[in-house]
Amino acid sequence: MQKIQNFVNGEYRDPIKGDYIENIEPGTGKVFAQVPNSTQEDLDLAVEASKEAFPVWSRMAVDKRSRILHKLADLIDYNLDDLALMESRDNGKPLWLAKAVDIPRASANFRFYASAIVNFSSEAQVSEGFMVNYTRRSPVGIVGCISPWNLPLYLFSWKIAPALAMGNCVIAKPSELTPMTAFLLGKLSKDAGMPNGVLNILHGEGKSIGQAIVEHEVTKAISFTGGTATGRIVGATASQQFKKVSLELGGKNPNIIFADCDLDEAVKTSVKSSFTNQGEICLCGSRILVEDSIYDEFKARFLKECEKIVVGDPMNAKSIMGALVSEDHLNKVDSYVLLAKEEGGKVLHGGNRIAREGFYYEPTVIEGLDKNCRTNQEEIFGPVVTLNKFKNEEEAIDIANSTRYGLSCTIWTSDLKRAHRVSHAVQSGIIWVNCWLVRDLRTPFGGMKDSGIGREGGNEALRFFSEPQNVCIKL
Ligand code: NAP
Repeated sequence: MQKIQNFVNGEYRDPIKGDYIENIEPGTGKVFAQVPNSTQEDLDLAVEASKEAFPVWSRMAVDKRSRILHKLADLIDYNLDDLALMESRDNGKPLWLAKAVDIPRASANFRFYASAIVNFSSEAQVSEGFMVNYTRRSPVGIVGCISPWNLPLYLFSWKIAPALAMGNCVIAKPSELTPMTAFLLGKLSKDAGMPNGVLNILHGEGKSIGQAIVEHEVTKAISFTGGTATGRIVGATASQQFKKVSLELGGKNPNIIFADCDLDEAVKTSVKSSFTNQGEICLCGSRILVEDSIYDEFKARFLKECEKIVVGDPMNAKSIMGALVSEDHLNKVDSYVLLAKEEGGKVLHGGNRIAREGFYYEPTVIEGLDKNCRTNQEEIFGPVVTLNKFKNEEEAIDIANSTRYGLSCTIWTSDLKRAHRVSHAVQSGIIWVNCWLVRDLRTPFGGMKDSGIGREGGNEALRFFSEPQNVCIKL
């Protein structure tokens, strides 16, 4: 059985107190690895290593830092098969998906920021004959990066790549449920030439080592992706010490389908936006809103597509959906389906656990629920979607905006003006029109309302991980 170690000061190390947590493979339900249950003592070592590394890394010529990050991206590509296998076993997602999306996107994140940093410039204002004002942007220092389990290496790298590119040292914690690819990244970062202490990876529980990273006086910025309830704790803790904080949180995303849409595309993509990665993507649409004149036709076609979804062994190339990440999460998803029935919902498809070893659940479609009921208000984060009708644009916008969340929204229409109108009226940080999950990495990414604060992506992340200082010179 694999024993995972922390990565501190360029070396793999056992947790100082020798305590481990079991990591269960969702596809089999069996123990897969031992994960360090890190403590304050491990954090203290990482802090010392980061402090020592910071002057070297932050003053390294930008093009040299860039080359190291490019090399790391290349090494991820080179190790794609091994990393994808570990990601799939750790998380339960189909291996083909980890190969096609998670791991390529992780290398793309490093490559993107390796290039972005050499093109990043700060602002200058010249008041002719009076003064010159310029903004110096220096790295914040030592930063904490905390990521969730659903897209493990993809989201881990999305945080640490801009932090490292900007010249910060990082103390990072992946989810205790999916630590494997972050563990492997330690060695790859060393092979890429990253100096010791620049990237430190601590494993363990959020409430202990995660909280300790956020609380430690040395971490000057915290980038967190996870649930809204945890984000509230992280935000409150970080603000006490006036740290910079970026929170990417949960969603309850609407998928609005107008009668004038390309129905073939809307059905095909809605199935993907509902069930890709077992519905465990923060950007999955979980509330499908359909204009009443096409409701019956959409429903019939959508359900027919659902019948084709094969749920099974993540290692099997035919599995469209694999296993949910844990038994707890499986129980949570199932409890929401029971709740939906109590709330008067009718299960049109699925609604059951799959009787086999591991944590498998059927793709589930429910109709007949009020927009304000808990099933339509709370994030389930699994393969469960609701179907609702709307009469007109106004009602669609009203239902779309009726939750506390504001992460993403998908709109299906062939009316260009309506696409803009509805996009501007829906309170979501990301709007897709006639597509889903496509995005240029230069664009700001993040949610409104309880879906988070701050934006990641492009120069937004480089700005977040830097400290601006204005210098004003009188002419
Ligand atoms: P979570 O329970 O909030 O955990 C996220 C991370 O925070 C994990 O590494 C967790 O460690 C750690 N953590 C827990 N308590 C902490 C604390 N007090 N201080 C510091 N860190 C702490 O979320 P999750 O269940 O892993 O992920 C699912 C959620 O993430 C969903 O709500 C989903 O919508 C959201 N998400 C959002 C985005 C986005 O970009 N907006 C992207 C992906 C996922 P442990 O694993 O050890 O508890």
